[in-house]
Amino acid sequence: MNIVSIKYGSESIRSEIRNAVVDFSEMTAGIVAIESDVIRNGKPLVGYGFTSNGRYAATGIVKDRLVPRLMKAPEESLLSPDGNNFDPFKAWEIMMRNEKPGGHGERSVAVGSIDMALWDLVAKIEDLPLYQVLANRYRGGQVSRRVYVYAAGGYYYPGKDLESLKDEIKGYLDSGYETVKIKIGGATLEEDRKRIEAVVELTGDPGRLAVDANGRFTVLEAIRWGKALAPYGLKWYEEPIDPVDYAGHAEIAQMYDGPLATGENLFSTIDTRNLIRHGGLRADRDYLQMDPALSYGLVEYTRTLEMLSEHGWSRQRCIPHGGHQFALHIAAGLGIGGNESYPGVFGAFGGFGDDVQPESGYIEMPDAPGIGIETKSNLFEILQKL
Ligand SMILES: [Mg+2]
Repeated sequence: MNIVSIKYGSESIRSEIRNAVVDFSEMTAGIVAIESDVIRNGKPLVGYGFTSNGRYAATGIVKDRLVPRLMKAPEESLLSPDGNNFDPFKAWEIMMRNEKPGGHGERSVAVGSIDMALWDLVAKIEDLPLYQVLANRYRGGQVSRRVYVYAAGGYYYPGKDLESLKDEIKGYLDSGYETVKIKIGGATLEEDRKRIEAVVELTGDPGRLAVDANGRFTVLEAIRWGKALAPYGLKWYEEPIDPVDYAGHAEIAQMYDGPLATGENLFSTIDTRNLIRHGGLRADRDYLQMDPALSYGLVEYTRTLEMLSEHGWSRQRCIPHGGHQFALHIAAGLGIGGNESYPGVFGAFGGFGDDVQPESGYIEMPDAPGIGIETKSNLFEILQKL
């Protein structure tokens, strides 16, 4: 059993949306296809991966370091002990050979995209959906077939007024989402309050609206906004400040009683451990959003879940960023709290399989082998170019 080739590339996901910190006029995603010599129905099995969204393709690292290391590795060094499948943990060690600790970011994104493709391949070789493979390995076969999802949108957009925001949110609610999220911090507090109130009018319950500042505020600003947000009783207040200002998070958690959420820009187990150690977050209410695709893949994510459990955190507090099928499978297979969804943004890289629609805020997991990228026709078309 061998890897025949690893193809990679970069795909534009540019759009006119913006959050409080970045616009998406230059945004790209890295894409990966790993072809094996395992033949099924007359065709070689291929695993597909990509870099989630929001951090740009890291094609140089994939090309110069990760692919050469994997392609040079002796065949058996990538296989499980029985030789019947690839072993993503071994591949991870090979990819990270000669890499110093620390400095996570672009490298974790590059490794994450290959890790996703490897897990897709592993599950296809077992002819099972990835969630079932994970449940069999880690949870005695127990699958959470219904996964909680929420619709992330409410971006700032040229010419977008309150009416168009309401139309967007209404679309999410009509298509089966119960919880929605909008951006804040890209307008004045007064304007954002109007946006929040307009959305709460639609959801009826402020507990069905989360807000996301994308790390824009200073600690003082975050506290000022937090005081204005607290009376609403929102689902959560996301990334108020820079993701690695741990002591700053602790200050905000002191004054903001409602749930906080963060973690989408932490890219390693050790960074998350620092957040848990020093960030003052509360295991009974706050949410952790580390994105497995951006943070060294599922191999590293299993270590993060282990670390969280050692610190007394339930994995139910984890609802990853990214809105991709990979995290959906991880949620179903490993029993984490749910997954983000982008029904309206990021083109082919947003949303799940073509036939997958939420009902009352939950997705019923499909049965396709692997991650099911083949069942998402627009994304599959892009990956097939490789
Ligand atoms: Mg966010």
